[in-house]
Amino acid sequence: MAAITIKNVNKTYADGFKAVKDVSLDIADGEFMILVGPSGCGKSTLLRMIVGLEDITSGDMIIGDKRVNEKAPRDRNLAMVFQNYALYPHLSVFENIAFPLRLRKAPDAEVKERVTNAAKLLELTEHLDRKPSQLSGGQRQRVAMGRAIVREADAFLFDEPLSNLDAKLRGQMRTEILRMQRRLGTTTVYVTHDQTEAMTLGDRVAVLRRGVLQQVASPRELYEHP
Ligand code: ADP
Ligand code: ADP
Repeated sequence: MAAITIKNVNKTYADGFKAVKDVSLDIADGEFMILVGPSGCGKSTLLRMIVGLEDITSGDMIIGDKRVNEKAPRDRNLAMVFQNYALYPHLSVFENIAFPLRLRKAPDAEVKERVTNAAKLLELTEHLDRKPSQLSGGQRQRVAMGRAIVREADAFLFDEPLSNLDAKLRGQMRTEILRMQRRLGTTTVYVTHDQTEAMTLGDRVAVLRRGVLQQVASPRELYEHP
């Protein structure tokens, strides 16, 4: 069974623009799937439909064995990591990571255990009392990942998470994201327009163009033997 099944999905925006056209894609359990394509090809729209932040116009979105077309984001158990990290500046690193657990009113002991474990995994233990403004870009990125990890989500969704970082940090974060994903084995869908990211991170790469899924292949097939 696929972790995420996208079945004949279409998206027509309110102004009539067709951003995603009849896309079907099975994402396997534990797979690192990259969505690539030129700006405006529909990558973010597709990702937002997976997470439930955007309604689908027709087709089916299936997470595990459940059709989630009408389910709100909070009922899909997916964790999205945004480009700007969406950290709360007034909260400590600990509380930023704990945020989804606080929303769910998890008991303090559970919050402490999960946040401590995530921080260890992400090498953020010494920074738990600091504010996001006191962290480097890479550390902020890791806090955003920590927030995704504590939810024990069925999948991670990334929308160009590294595009605001300088080249050196981008390289480091690529390595960290991959290491984290392999260690946790969590199904991941990752939007980028960066070929290096697609090549180094992806088990498979799905290529979108003008809302149409053009090709799904391993990075090797796509970039070495086009
Ligand atoms: P990508 O992530 O590949 O850059 P998007 O999914 O953000 O592309 O956008 C796909 C297309 O849909 C673009 O042409 C964009 O202008 C259009 N689009 C995005 N959001 C809306 C909206 N709310 N209403 C109308 N068109 C939109
Ligand atoms: P509402 O305003 O209806 O309460 P929110 O947008 O504040 O909804 O989000 C409520 C819940 O939806 C959050 O607790 C979270 O679980 C989920 N959610 C929101 N945005 C995302 C996202 N980007 N990725 C995953 N889950 C999200």
